[in-house]
Amino acid sequence: MAVKTSGRVAVYPGSFDPITFGHIDIVKRFLPLFDEIIILIATNNDKRSLFSFEERKELILEALRRQGLEIAEKIKVDSFAGLTVDYAKKVGARSILRGLRAVTDFEYEQVMANMNRQLAPEIETLIVFASPEFYYVSSRAIKEVTSLGGRVTGLIPENVEAALKKKIMLASSGPGN
Ligand code: ADP
Repeated sequence: MAVKTSGRVAVYPGSFDPITFGHIDIVKRFLPLFDEIIILIATNNDKRSLFSFEERKELILEALRRQGLEIAEKIKVDSFAGLTVDYAKKVGARSILRGLRAVTDFEYEQVMANMNRQLAPEIETLIVFASPEFYYVSSRAIKEVTSLGGRVTGLIPENVEAALKKKIMLASSGPGN
């Protein structure tokens, strides 16, 4: 179900499996430009995700609360299984937010932005470069490093780190291990 909004609204879509300080940095940097940012968890490839939608949402909300109320109040979290542009139209958002890390992100982001523009010319994709301290941080790398016992402190919020460790411990003690 779409979140009710008013004012200048932007949608920040992604997997957020789980949220990292790289994602939070993008949100914080875009926040002064908008009245509201909706973090939109894409659920169309949910089966391949480590955390369920509900878990990801709770992790995001808790991480935002830890960043301070002012931030938490301007950000909403929702999920959608369809096209991001359809969701954006539904909530009256004119902007889709994305972040760019290495060159490897470029092609994918360019294709997505152009495809979305073709689908909905009135909605603009806005992309910012990753901050230097987070340019190498991805949810995937965080999961890999944590599962191999590496330290990810400072790259993901504490609540996310705790949940990730718990999830990985549970997985390794499950059937077949
Ligand atoms: P997706 O599965 O759509 O790539 P992600 O959750 O991995 O979703 O990322 C959502 C968006 O946030 C993407 O535009 C991605 O490039 C960006 N992003 C992810 N991590 C970072 C980071 N550390 N710094 C800047 N942007 C990032």
